[in-house]
Amino acid sequence: MRIIEYEGFRLLSEAGIPIPRFSVVDEPEGAVEAAKQIGLPAVLKAQVLVGGRGRAGGVKVVETLEDARSVASRLLGSEIRGERVRKLIVAEAVKHSEELYLSIIVDRASNRHLILASRMGGVDVEELSKSHPEALIRVPVDPLTGLREWHTRKLAAKLNLSTNTATQLQDIVKKLYNLYTQYHCDLAEINPLALTEDGRLIALDAKIIVDDNAARIKGFRFAAEAGAESEAEKLGLNYVELDGDIGVVCNGAGLTMATMDLIHTLGGRPGCFLDLGGGASSERVYTALKFLLNRPHIKLVFLNVLGGITRCDEVAEGIVKAFDEFGGSKKIVVRLVGTREEEGKRILESRNIGYFTRMLEAAEAAVKEAA
Ligand code: GDP
Ligand code: MN
Repeated sequence: MRIIEYEGFRLLSEAGIPIPRFSVVDEPEGAVEAAKQIGLPAVLKAQVLVGGRGRAGGVKVVETLEDARSVASRLLGSEIRGERVRKLIVAEAVKHSEELYLSIIVDRASNRHLILASRMGGVDVEELSKSHPEALIRVPVDPLTGLREWHTRKLAAKLNLSTNTATQLQDIVKKLYNLYTQYHCDLAEINPLALTEDGRLIALDAKIIVDDNAARIKGFRFAAEAGAESEAEKLGLNYVELDGDIGVVCNGAGLTMATMDLIHTLGGRPGCFLDLGGGASSERVYTALKFLLNRPHIKLVFLNVLGGITRCDEVAEGIVKAFDEFGGSKKIVVRLVGTREEEGKRILESRNIGYFTRMLEAAEAAVKEAA
């Protein structure tokens, strides 16, 4: 699965690789506002996944706010190689004197990772490997030993870079390699990796392809929502964002899936998959509810717990804490049965929080409330 550029930029940035300042916009007015903040000239970049975007007219430098408005109106809604443009990046236009190429790929022929780099960046690597094969430096990395200092030193030496640039490049290669392994990438490519007039290396493009199975685990289901999913991951939550409005949170993946199916069957639209896992503490329940209640697309939260190792009183404590903090803002429908059910119900009753014990009734109530 290919990750859209702005998500790719975020991954690069998280990994510590320099990127331009940028905003993501979906209307011309937004592009004007973004250009005001970022400063002129700015670069407008169509967020499409097809290759050769620049050459197909999807990357434009604008000098004035009027330009920003007209170029944005022209790009948004247009098609680039058959793909509709729904979003644009507005980025600071980085003045640079050189464009390098840098990527890491899985080399299936040698069962290794392969770092590719060149001083002749900006053009497609396929093109480069045909027209100037000698200008493309290849350094294989054995996945069992991983990236070593000598790999990056060799790469920098072969590129014949100045000491200052070589140091930066080595650092960027290490960071890109970390990102590449962490996200199980098939490809992590920066083209161009620009050398600015004052001697800084900065990534002006991000092409990242994540292994499909890893993408699912990592929550890249929708590239645009990867932000929320990686945020959830940091909280230790097993979360997949969906495009409905009912926040489904349960204990155990099986129950979560069954609950999503039921909501769907009853005519509702699940807005996420959130699995608390087994034996969730009150703190974990609270964290999950807080996270969901703060997601703008979630209208109502449906908490469905079947306590085994999970204790209903712990769950109830977590619900109470979330109620205290978010009380009126969004509705929470609770279904609670299982271990320490009576204690759990008493806690909810003492706070006048309603609950269900039958899953079907609870789901019906959730769908009705969200309609
Ligand atoms: P691609 O065609 O999808 O690979 O699009 P890129 O993001 O690589 O952009 C194509 C070309 O636009 C690059 O090779 C650069 O020469 C140029 N470009 C991209 N970003 C900037 C920028 O911030 N400043 C300047 N001056 N040029 C840029
Ligand atoms: Mn590029």
